[in-house]
Amino acid sequence: MTARKVLLLIIDGVSDRPCRELGRLTPLQAARTPILDRIAAEGVSGIMDTISPGIRPGSDTSHLSLLGYPPEKYYTGRGPLEAAGTGITMEPGMIGFRCNYATVDESGQVVDRRAGRIHNTSMLSREVEEKVDLSPFGVDVIFRSGAGHRAALAFRGAGLGACVSSNDPKKEGAYPPAFVPLHDSAADNKTADALNEFIRQSLPLLAEHTLNKERKKMGLPMANMILIRGAGQMGDFEPFGKRYGLSGSVISAATLITGIGKSLGLRHVKVEGATGSSDTNLDGKVKAAIRELNEQDFVLLNIKGADEAGHDGLAIEKKNFIERIDSALQPFLSIEECLIVICADHSTPCSIRDHSADPVPLVIWGDGVRTDSVITFDEVACAEGGLNRIPGHALMPIICDLINRAKKYGA
Ligand code: ZN
Ligand code: ZN
Repeated sequence: MTARKVLLLIIDGVSDRPCRELGRLTPLQAARTPILDRIAAEGVSGIMDTISPGIRPGSDTSHLSLLGYPPEKYYTGRGPLEAAGTGITMEPGMIGFRCNYATVDESGQVVDRRAGRIHNTSMLSREVEEKVDLSPFGVDVIFRSGAGHRAALAFRGAGLGACVSSNDPKKEGAYPPAFVPLHDSAADNKTADALNEFIRQSLPLLAEHTLNKERKKMGLPMANMILIRGAGQMGDFEPFGKRYGLSGSVISAATLITGIGKSLGLRHVKVEGATGSSDTNLDGKVKAAIRELNEQDFVLLNIKGADEAGHDGLAIEKKNFIERIDSALQPFLSIEECLIVICADHSTPCSIRDHSADPVPLVIWGDGVRTDSVITFDEVACAEGGLNRIPGHALMPIICDLINRAKKYGA
């Protein structure tokens, strides 16, 4: 028997280092995880350098690497992927940016980088997209609201560069600087000029918008400035379906991961109550993944909360969230002919509150998979497994081999 379908579950940042609060155990070691342990006992385990040993991965670069798209070739910055995740159709060559709605006072000084954590800004964004005219630059403007105070901007046009500065002063009480090119090239100059013009035209539109006038009346911070960062040029991604011959979906509350999935042509499935934090609707995500696996060959499911706990340095919360994830996974065990692959995209040790290069645990479970002697899923136990230590770019080839989709090399 051979599995035909694949569930790739990436538990974001779940991997860790020994934590003092947990008696020198990692949160995965300390957590009670009967389902993950059963999967480890029945499957084949290993550890994985999601990019390469000693490289501290971002979530974006590691997801690209795990899906078989080398970040050194495909990654040019967070902006274009974030823009794709926000719902902008990013074509190769377009320049994408991450944005925040912010509040500035009459002098132009930033008084709130998140405009009072405003949400429902789509009316504002529509106005800006419709009225800002960058046609003298040969640039089309696409501007969309994201979650909360966030938004995304994209420029379409010839001769645009992506090496430009940000206008985000990163702190309150400062003035947003003008955009400047980071290299003296015509393309970067053009993008910087277009961005400065975008800000010049958007300021009066925002200040005069009814939504902001109402906020002012209610004493709320106005969303009267757009802070822009993370410029990058959209890569030319070979569609996932073409590369592997597999149809697929992405389920993630993180815009960045959704954007990566969309950029590869994966179908994005929205789940009610999926927040990207530890209060997320885990059962809803699991149900959605099972529903998708009825239709599709491949489902990428990202669960984010453990990464957040790592960034906050909260070892006990991280352990508790892992236990919640574990009990939500039960329904996966009864899907037929499905390979279940579980790993992290990087470690997020509570002790350093950021991503580290420590390899992550990995387990593969399903029909045809050799069983090794590993019986628990954690960073240390998995190192004894049959997969040994692999680089992230080896994951998709191993998966394709196990589901009988790999081509023979040689005769
Ligand atoms: Zn991550
Ligand atoms: Zn993180």
